[in-house]
Amino acid sequence: MPKTVVVIGAGISGLTSAFLLSKNEIDVITIERKNSVGGSIETHIENGFLFDRGPNSALETTPVIAELIKDLKLEDELLYASKQANKRYILRNDQLHALPTSPPAFIKTKLFSGKAKFRLLAEPFIGRSKDGYYQSLADFVTRRLGKEFLDYAINPFVAGVYAGRPEELSVKSAFPKLYALEEKYGGLIVGTIRSIRERKKRAEVSKQSAKMLSFKSGMIALPEAIEKYFGNKIFLSSEVISVDRQSEGYSVSFNKDGLTKKVSCDAVLSTVPAFAAGDLFIKFDPDFKNHADSIYYPPVLVYYLVYNKKDIDQELDGFGFLIPEKENKNFLGALWSSVIFPGRTSEDKAAFTLFIGGSRFPGFVNEDRAELLKKVRTEFEALMKIKSNPVYSSDRFWEKAIPQYNLGYIEHERFFDEFEKKNPGIFISGNFRGGISVGDCIKNAELVANKIKSIINSP
Ligand SMILES: Cc1cc2nc3c(=O)[nH]c(=O)nc-3n(C[C@H](O)[C@H](O)[C@H](O)COP(=O)(O)OP(=O)(O)OC[C@H]3O[C@@H](n4cnc5c(N)ncnc54)[C@H](O)[C@@H]3O)c2cc1C
Repeated sequence: MPKTVVVIGAGISGLTSAFLLSKNEIDVITIERKNSVGGSIETHIENGFLFDRGPNSALETTPVIAELIKDLKLEDELLYASKQANKRYILRNDQLHALPTSPPAFIKTKLFSGKAKFRLLAEPFIGRSKDGYYQSLADFVTRRLGKEFLDYAINPFVAGVYAGRPEELSVKSAFPKLYALEEKYGGLIVGTIRSIRERKKRAEVSKQSAKMLSFKSGMIALPEAIEKYFGNKIFLSSEVISVDRQSEGYSVSFNKDGLTKKVSCDAVLSTVPAFAAGDLFIKFDPDFKNHADSIYYPPVLVYYLVYNKKDIDQELDGFGFLIPEKENKNFLGALWSSVIFPGRTSEDKAAFTLFIGGSRFPGFVNEDRAELLKKVRTEFEALMKIKSNPVYSSDRFWEKAIPQYNLGYIEHERFFDEFEKKNPGIFISGNFRGGISVGDCIKNAELVANKIKSIINSP
């Protein structure tokens, strides 16, 4: 008899594991609360404009992405970001400054003061902190690189990745590779040089050099292709309400069309967000819910704007810009969506995706939404020197957007590791373990699928 695995949640984590397990002749049933697949991946097409309301792209940091694209016959759909998208801007004093990517550009840039540049030279001589795992990203960066680098490089960067704040994020959990550079090599500059050499030997791709991709019909193409592969083995509009141990394996109960249904299985893989996992697993360990519920997911508002190109005076030659908290604006930054993936709009239009809120400004939920969008639009149009109204706009509110790997996250990581050991056959995955990016979710989905295969196939 083939073994059966129930996957809870049809976001990219659940779907990738389900697909990889199914390729290994394991019977997989995926159960999803919403009436569509993708989870945080959502593509909205209206009036000919394509608005990716969740992730706009993925970095090809794992070979599993290329395997998925090949297996699912998505090669013709694949889009790589344009070369221009390598250029990124940061706002300082209402001016967009290109992020320097070479030593001469770093010396010339006005993004950092002479003092801040000089401070970087001290980095190799700074020792490790005694705080170990309990250091915020802000403390780590200030100690190693100085305050200005924190304010004008790291603060906007983490707003772009996590919609987070460096004062709250744990350096060890949120940026494990950065932390490891200090741990392993004693410093970031020496560590970066040596790890580039080592990565070359292992033929690995770093996040900085990984290719950025999407699909012609938007990010949703990948989850939808996996859905097509499974057909009716994905139950949509089905909310899992309980997981129970049976004499052999587990049963999973879910509500569908007003009825409660139950399936039996050899293993359960949960990929639901932490705040939804607490109630499902509390009966296996009362501490589960405490850990899961204390993971913070700030709200984010995504705002999509399209303008006639002729009305924009700012040169459109990059990925977009990020805004440091010190600059006191009402949004975190903007992607220049139609520069990153040209062809998304006609030649005469330009599309932008703006992000509002996150841990920096979660209180926006109490503001009048229309007023807030107006304020953001006014700020954006002034920075981009735009002289007219948008020809199209749309927005998407995420009440609980992205898990923050905050200070003390190591306790949650250790708890979930132990929980899986104590409850063989239950696997806890999703973007609150092992990284929030689509690439990390796919990488972890493969690791989890391999773990499940080895456990359920062992005698
Ligand atoms: C606005 C935004 C922008 C982002 N931008 C980027 C980006 O540009 N690049 C990038 O790499 N990453 C980005 N991310 C992060 C990335 O998209 C997510 O971390 C990733 O898609 C999460 O996938 P997941 O499968 O782990 O979780 P989810 O996508 O959250 O999927 C979990 C699924 O579980 C389902 N579920 C919940 N409860 C139940 C239940 N009881 N029963 C059944 N199903 C249930 C949910 O409906 C959901 O479909 C962004 C995220 C957001 C929100």
